[in-house]
Amino acid sequence: MKKRITAPREVLHELQQDYFICTKCKICQAVHVQFCTESRFWRNCPSGTRFRWDAYYASGKMEIARGLHIHEIEPSESLRHILYTCMLCSSCQEQCWEVKQLHPTRVFELMREKAVREGWGPMPEHEPLRESLEKNDNPFGVEARKRGEWAKGLQAKHLPKEKAEALFFAGDAYSTDPALFPAVRAAFRALQLGGMDLGILGAKEKSDGALMLLLGDRDFFETFAFDNLETFNGLGVKTIVTPDAHAAWAFKEEYARELNPEIKVRHISEVLDRMIRKGELKPAKEVPLKVVYHDPCKLGRRFDIYEPPRRVLRSIPGLELLEFPRATFNSLCCGGGGGVPYAFPDYALWTARERLYEAEWTGAEAVVTSCPYCLQMFRKAVEATGSPLKVYDLAEPLLMSLGEEV
Ligand code: SF4
Ligand code: SF4
Repeated sequence: MKKRITAPREVLHELQQDYFICTKCKICQAVHVQFCTESRFWRNCPSGTRFRWDAYYASGKMEIARGLHIHEIEPSESLRHILYTCMLCSSCQEQCWEVKQLHPTRVFELMREKAVREGWGPMPEHEPLRESLEKNDNPFGVEARKRGEWAKGLQAKHLPKEKAEALFFAGDAYSTDPALFPAVRAAFRALQLGGMDLGILGAKEKSDGALMLLLGDRDFFETFAFDNLETFNGLGVKTIVTPDAHAAWAFKEEYARELNPEIKVRHISEVLDRMIRKGELKPAKEVPLKVVYHDPCKLGRRFDIYEPPRRVLRSIPGLELLEFPRATFNSLCCGGGGGVPYAFPDYALWTARERLYEAEWTGAEAVVTSCPYCLQMFRKAVEATGSPLKVYDLAEPLLMSLGEEV
């Protein structure tokens, strides 16, 4: 039997102090308003705001966790809807932690794990993701042999046949959605220009499993984590760098304890920021663009990666960086969190449109982010609304300023 990377597991009842202590103060139902001057943008919870019942806010789900614990309620269709419309964006936890030091988002993650263990989660609409992972090693129905196609013509070293100091891990979305290929190519190219000795796994790259973890299927997640750890630890690399915020989250939070301690995991925004500060990358060409930066939940609230991407953008001559009213720890989810878009695409799009409206409100010409799922959601919202806003990955305006196109 394969070793478990997260044994002993944390289970829902271990957080009972959190859901029994929740006082229904509902502080978790708005952003930190002292840092958001516009009351139009005070709401923070997509599921509560959209479905308008307390059960869809963190306070309601904490009560559901308590009810499940004491067998006061049983799993039902509506309970499953409540649980799987949560974006797991951690905004409620951001608010609650300041005053109560509770972990509502962690409770909901563990509720999903309980749902999967007991057979009432995830949603039936999530099944194709699982089937594709079994068949293709990615959740999005693309044949495994096509996974390295994004890198065609980039003269990338191929690990493990060749050796490199760093592994560039493209991730599930960047390597399977052709609309994201320019973004991931820009990311790879910017690192190369900064002098990083990079290699890729190409078609041999496998899913990080992060999506299964979001859906609550820790067993399935661990099969991918185990295989990847074996691969990573045998590559002889010193760094794993990824442009995928969800992969970075899985590696930093879940893989880290079994990863060779010599290997550092970095999200690309951290590496690009460092390269610019050390003078290894010198953005010189003017990029006359007003942009607003959207903080991906898995980078910002999870790892406090707020400043590195902003410093990258500020280093670009001619570029003006604006801020959302809901920025950094107050950031609203793009609608791509928690595996929601695959089961509830209309609601996910509703959330993305809300965020896009906020981006337009700032007067920006483009929204920039550093997560493939945010990019996908913003592009869907632009398509649905006919918004004139452009949507860029962080690496794209940087590469423009370095005088290259991909
Ligand atoms: S989760 Fe925290 S902030 Fe929300 S109602 Fe409960 S105690 Fe209050
Ligand atoms: S994690 Fe996000 S969507 Fe879920 S209850 Fe908290 S704020 Fe709402």
